[in-house]
Amino acid sequence: MSENKMVLYRKYRPKSFKDFVGQETVIKVIMNEISSEQISHAYLFSGHRGTGKTTLARIFAKAINCQNRKGAEPCNECPSCREINEGRAIDLIEVDAASNRGIEEVKSLRENIRFAPSFLKYKVLILDEAHQLSKDATNALLKIMEEPPSYAVFILATTEANKMIPTVASRCQKFNFNRLDHDIIKEKLDRICEKEGIKMAQEAMDLLIHAADGSLRDAEAKLNQLISFVPEGTFTADDVREVLGVSDIRLVIELVELLANKEKVKAIKFISDNMEKGLDIPDFLKMTIDYLRKIMLLRISADLIDVVLGGETKEMKENALRQADLFEEKRLSKTLSLLMDADNRTKYSSIIQLPFELAIIESLED
Ligand SMILES: [Zn+2]
Repeated sequence: MSENKMVLYRKYRPKSFKDFVGQETVIKVIMNEISSEQISHAYLFSGHRGTGKTTLARIFAKAINCQNRKGAEPCNECPSCREINEGRAIDLIEVDAASNRGIEEVKSLRENIRFAPSFLKYKVLILDEAHQLSKDATNALLKIMEEPPSYAVFILATTEANKMIPTVASRCQKFNFNRLDHDIIKEKLDRICEKEGIKMAQEAMDLLIHAADGSLRDAEAKLNQLISFVPEGTFTADDVREVLGVSDIRLVIELVELLANKEKVKAIKFISDNMEKGLDIPDFLKMTIDYLRKIMLLRISADLIDVVLGGETKEMKENALRQADLFEEKRLSKTLSLLMDADNRTKYSSIIQLPFELAIIESLED
């Protein structure tokens, strides 16, 4: 992501636990450990991108090193806090494993860890995208983690915990970071908009948050992108669609309604009307498949609502549950597999919408 797109993200990156949004359970446990001085040597933060893993790792590093901590909160004023906030703490080592994945890099980390911290109380290693380390490098890391010096703390962050080697994962205290709810992201973006004097229509905000897929960092980057393209006035949903190239989920819902009600002619007309208005058919088809899959899961159990539509508005959740009821189970799975075939065939079709149309017609035959 370019520097420019990250301005808001950096500017509003929380420096204390109290400013951190979401992940309440994780925060609670970690703050308890800090205030009772019972911290572990190794942590594994796993979960969806842009949900606060490395941000929290930094706050944690600051809190355990703070010279004037209040409860679990870092003071952000003492020399230790300032060193970390200003990015010049040599005892806080941040490594992106995606670009430093080899054995040599881990060996030099091992050398580094062998020396006691020069200024801070703890030497903290934050290893982002930890699953990307090579096998040799992971084993070398494991060796350090097996006998860590008393001052060392490891925080491994990963979006793919299932790819972590179990012997490493089992050494860590594990925390799972969830996709952030729509309302939580909205609260933070509203605050940013207010401070920055950005005006945004409700519908535009909802669309942007939907496109961020539960990632606060992505939402902030998209907001950044929006204000750099459309510097003034009130942002509309059309601005969001245009600048971010977001297909509108409401169109998907509209089409699914027609399919559920077996409105064959209207469904075909819907596709061609929207295509004329510039709808990106392959993208729209993929979104329709994704949405129908969620509907199918909801048919299996309505209890899955927060799992499948966690990041969505209440209105959207209610609507999805209603549509799940509307569909016959057999027709739903048939439609899904026909649309998946259509998705595969779209790129070879000289008439881009034809596979989609055929799938719709076939799915509505008895
Ligand atoms: Zn401090």
